Amino acid sequence: MNQLNISLPDEAATLQLGASLAKACEGSAVIHLYGDLGAGKTTFSRGFLQALGHQGNVKSPTYTLVEPYQLEKIAVYHFDLYRLADPEELEFMGIRDYFAQDAFCLVEWPQQGAGVLPEPDIELTLDYTPTGRTATLVAVSESGLNLLHRVQQQG
Ligand code: ADP
Ligand code: MG
Repeated sequence: MNQLNISLPDEAATLQLGASLAKACEGSAVIHLYGDLGAGKTTFSRGFLQALGHQGNVKSPTYTLVEPYQLEKIAVYHFDLYRLADPEELEFMGIRDYFAQDAFCLVEWPQQGAGVLPEPDIELTLDYTPTGRTATLVAVSESGLNLLHRVQQQG
């Protein structure tokens, strides 16, 4: 299966999903985060970063486009492309350098960078439900598929 559907009844569940993905990532990984404003993309990212040892706050880097985190074992780049006017701006910020490293990249609003952003390993979509959220994880690369299997094995 290249797809996983998970129900997220509350914020803690979204944080936990972020932590699960972080623990399942190996080498380098790119995760695209889809969902409306307030769906939980940044909450997921906070769970992801904290599971890798980040202790401070996590905010969407809406104006700076990317926030780097140098953690103990790995660098994580958290992108928020909501305010990106033109995908070509990504070329000017040296986007390829970020994705060429052994790092984990989380990208909110990847559709804003269409055509310039490299393909992800995992596409995560967060949707509103009447009481919480649902997450749909789709593996779109071989390493994304392996990553998804490791997430499933965590139970
Ligand atoms: P985004 O980055 O997608 O705009 P944020 O993570 O900044 O969204 O905000 C999501 C909001 O929804 C936060 O107030 C958070 O507490 C809340 N939230 C996150 N996950 C859930 C969930 N599974 N159920 C209910 N509320 C949630
Ligand atoms: Mg956000």
